[in-house]
Amino acid sequence: MASSKQPFEIRVIFSKRKTIELRFADTNTLIIKAPKHTSKERIAEVLQLKKAWIEKARRHVVERLPNPQLKEGENILFLGKWHQIKLDKTLNKGFDLSQPGFIRLNPTLAQKGNHVLISVYRQTSRQLVEEYCHHYARKWQLDIGTIRITSAKTRWGSCSQKNNLNFSWRLAMTPKITIEYVVAHECAHLVHRNHSKAFWQFLKQMMPHYEEGRQWLRKNGHKLPLLDD
Ligand SMILES: [Zn+2]
Repeated sequence: MASSKQPFEIRVIFSKRKTIELRFADTNTLIIKAPKHTSKERIAEVLQLKKAWIEKARRHVVERLPNPQLKEGENILFLGKWHQIKLDKTLNKGFDLSQPGFIRLNPTLAQKGNHVLISVYRQTSRQLVEEYCHHYARKWQLDIGTIRITSAKTRWGSCSQKNNLNFSWRLAMTPKITIEYVVAHECAHLVHRNHSKAFWQFLKQMMPHYEEGRQWLRKNGHKLPLLDD
């Protein structure tokens, strides 16, 4: 793993825009998008002002786990635990999770790459998210609209004005308690559309141990492999 202390390259891209934006393209390249004619001094000043943010963003990209390969013996994060891939020609259906600690995959399917894994995550997320949504809706008489599973990278869940709830399939990489927390969090927004004290109090009533699920995301959310094709 690269160290977040190593120097990195800074690349400035000037274009027709109004604000300066910073983003790590990879672990060693910080991209600065700046309006045309921004002075060197101004860029140096922004780098100084954003020092803490840059350090944190760098640490986050360095700590991100690489995308797994779907091959025999590879370890895959599933519901917060590492599972080993076992290729199995005798499998009729695509994958099988019945053996604890293993994801069994048909080798033909495994060759198709990451979208196979994404569909496993998608199905798993859908099943658990719906289960928790129905549980909380029944218990607290909540009116939930459509439940969607998305590929959002940084938002684990969201709640629309029309009470539709969206959840990222990436949640299937996190422990069940984290999935439950994200569901309870979005369900609580059906009652409180903000992060007020009343919102957090209601969430605690709904799920007294929510903090455990939330902390896992805080500590590990940025490390999960991106898995984009
Ligand atoms: Zn929220």
